Amino acid sequence: MPCSAEPPPTPTPEAAPAPAYAGRFAPSPTGPLHLGSLVAALASCLEARAHQGRWLLRMEDVDAPRTRPGAARTILAQLEAFGFAWDGELVWQSQRLDAYRAALEALLEAGAAYPCACTRREIADSALLAPDGSHRYPGTCRAGLPPGRPARAWRCRTGAGQLRWTDAIQGPQCEEVGQIVGDFVLLRADGQFAYQLAVVVDDAWQGVTHVVRGADLLDSTGRQLHLQHLLGAPHPAYAHLPVLTNAAGEKLSKQTLAAPLDPAAPARALVHALGLLGQAPPDGLARAAPAEIWAWAEAHWQLSRVPRQRSIVA
Ligand code: GLU
Repeated sequence: MPCSAEPPPTPTPEAAPAPAYAGRFAPSPTGPLHLGSLVAALASCLEARAHQGRWLLRMEDVDAPRTRPGAARTILAQLEAFGFAWDGELVWQSQRLDAYRAALEALLEAGAAYPCACTRREIADSALLAPDGSHRYPGTCRAGLPPGRPARAWRCRTGAGQLRWTDAIQGPQCEEVGQIVGDFVLLRADGQFAYQLAVVVDDAWQGVTHVVRGADLLDSTGRQLHLQHLLGAPHPAYAHLPVLTNAAGEKLSKQTLAAPLDPAAPARALVHALGLLGQAPPDGLARAAPAEIWAWAEAHWQLSRVPRQRSIVA
């Protein structure tokens, strides 16, 4: 989302030694991985390997109602069958609730978060629409809960400022989080911690320095930078890959019934994903063994060849 004016130049601080590269793949176990997930897993892994970095795996099962029984096990089996090897222990968000609670308490204490009594209907009736058609929170409970109304959710306070960052694939970005999404939810009315809080707490805790993920999350980045700032967490670098769509322009997803990755046939899908990532794999590579495909991919990977688009047709 472009903002209007250029920012004032900021002085360059003394260069501190950069932390070692740590990338990650963070699937939500709402169903099996599909070609779109393979593109994100492959690009984040190859980019970490190209920097002699670590590639971490995090199971984003924080949203209990959306988590499907058995999906995490299927995802791990798919990743192993496709030749992925992650570094360190697999992190489960469902085991990190205390850390999210501590972060929320810190935000509340700093006055950066507040309880909210509004129902979905009340917010919808306020008729403030974000550009994506969702309802922007009108700020009803910013100054305190209305008398006699209990807290339903907890929200993060946003300001009027612009956030600017440069995405390694999508280029310069500017977002006015307060204007576009408004004060966003950290702990939902159903008692579930929101993705935005969990992802920021975990990226910081795991020492993630580089986030490579689908461009469907580009619009979440402003909220995450805002939370990192409030929590005193470092800002990772971001690279948002084009999301894959079907011919009708719909994102490949569990909802659009994208075909699950077949653990018995990794070669063709790996080479297809490399092609979609602009890496121009040679003819015939799809007939090679997965180990040979990985060797080719690690030797030839270049992030700069990834199409600088928000979406591509698979
Ligand atoms: N769990 C998210 C998903 O599967 C990805 C989150 C992220 O990479 O930040 O879409």
